[in-house]
Amino acid sequence: MKSKRVAIIGAGPSGLAQMRAFQSAREKGEEIPEIVCFEKQSNWGGLWNYTWRTGLDERGEPVHSSMYRYLWSNGPKEGLEFADYTFDEHFGQEIASYPPRAVLFDYIEGRVLKAGIRDWIRFNTPVRFVRYNESDGTFTVTAHDQIKDTTYEETFDHVICASGHFSTPNVPYYEGFEGFNGRILHAHDFRDAREFRDKDLLILGSSYSAEDIGSQCWKYGAKSITVAYRNAPMGFAWPDNWEEVPALVRVDGNTAYFKDGSSRQVDAIILCTGYQHFFNFLPDDLRLKTANRLAAADLYKGVVFVKNTKMFYLGMQDQWFTFNMFDAQAWWVRDAILGKIAIPEDRSVLEKDVEERVALEDAGGGDASHAIKYQGDYIKELIAETDYPSFDVDGACEAFYAWKKHKKEDIMGFRNKSYRSVMTGKVSPAHHTPWKDALDDSLEAYLQRTPSESRDAEVISLHKQRAAAGA
Ligand SMILES: Cc1cc2nc3c(=O)[nH]c(=O)nc-3n(C[C@H](O)[C@H](O)[C@H](O)COP(=O)(O)OP(=O)(O)OC[C@H]3O[C@@H](n4cnc5c(N)ncnc54)[C@H](O)[C@@H]3O)c2cc1C
Repeated sequence: MKSKRVAIIGAGPSGLAQMRAFQSAREKGEEIPEIVCFEKQSNWGGLWNYTWRTGLDERGEPVHSSMYRYLWSNGPKEGLEFADYTFDEHFGQEIASYPPRAVLFDYIEGRVLKAGIRDWIRFNTPVRFVRYNESDGTFTVTAHDQIKDTTYEETFDHVICASGHFSTPNVPYYEGFEGFNGRILHAHDFRDAREFRDKDLLILGSSYSAEDIGSQCWKYGAKSITVAYRNAPMGFAWPDNWEEVPALVRVDGNTAYFKDGSSRQVDAIILCTGYQHFFNFLPDDLRLKTANRLAAADLYKGVVFVKNTKMFYLGMQDQWFTFNMFDAQAWWVRDAILGKIAIPEDRSVLEKDVEERVALEDAGGGDASHAIKYQGDYIKELIAETDYPSFDVDGACEAFYAWKKHKKEDIMGFRNKSYRSVMTGKVSPAHHTPWKDALDDSLEAYLQRTPSESRDAEVISLHKQRAAAGA
């Protein structure tokens, strides 16, 4: 077993889960293959590794992260908690249910620091290409060491692609964009809501990015938010200065025209129009082509590439569950590589598995509760086949159902709610400041028990401004 080599592409939550899975087997005395993780950024954490940069990074690579300065978890932390490393263990105190980005980054990092796997990762090293060698069943990985500025090749027995799929934007075009007198940006390039203070903002899209970026901008003092939807409005009880309108048709100067014949003046346009699965470092025979859905195409058990079963993909599904789903996948892939789980050799068996997953997802007709349960059942299926600590997945689904309900009740207040951890059985405390008033999203501000005076002053001034704007 020691002679086997495994390449992991990406040290985001999925890639880190994979390393933790192998390390936990080693901890139990098992022999594990040599693991090499290639990470193009200078640190781990994937999307959670925040950067103020947009466009290209300091070495000319496309910036990976799509996260923004004031991002808070958009679902309850009780739905994503690691079964082998609880929030309580990491923070040594109970924390509220919707932590900001910096807090979740700290949590993700805490587990892998404890596992001691950082030296398995080659940072600043994008994978440029992967080739499968039919002759001996190995993969040749071409990587670029950006520090030495050298490109080299190495051979592996397995490749696990964990490069994420929320980085390469879908960018639509509308007539008049080139003559728009303001900023047009994709959600991937959105960083700081303060940029849009006092602005009339147009957002295109009706999913999480539209909802959350709009909410951030509202929170930090945007004058008005108009969201244009293509199919259906999000339909939440939005604040007074927020409106949903049918699809954008064209823009002329600063005027945006919509499908229902209405128009309005806007200062900036944010395209919350989704992301593509994008693997420009993979050849045709290894490249996953899938829509963003729960039953991803061509992945047996959601992780084994049916066209080459030595190649695995992690985290390629659309996500209700995140960190603990990546764990379930990583533990399963580890055991497949260790030979404890057999992957069927007959391709038709693999394809049938995919077809059944697609049909089961489709049977839900897009209903959110069905989708949550579907993904919960998928996690249960995987962890039943490994030694990943079993947890109450149905209980975690309950947190998601409650979250959906809380959003319907109060879209700007759902983050003030608390949920029960299925790992510890404890209900989270309320945060010291309601989300809409908590302008400082630093780890320090979040973990302290009471709000600071300086932040209070800022909140009061923003409230006055909002009141003046009638919001
Ligand atoms: C705006 C936004 C908000 C979100 N909010 C939440 C939230 O609140 N809660 C939640 O649970 N989830 C959230 N998510 C979902 C998010 O997808 C997951 O939390 C998680 O980051 C996915 O982990 P990953 O490892 O699969 O991918 P990523 O986090 O994207 O990590 C992939 C890694 O692969 C590296 N990589 C890519 N290509 C190469 C290459 N060629 N060579 C080497 N390295 C490479 C990247 O640099 C990156 O480090 C959010 C996503 C977005 C976009």
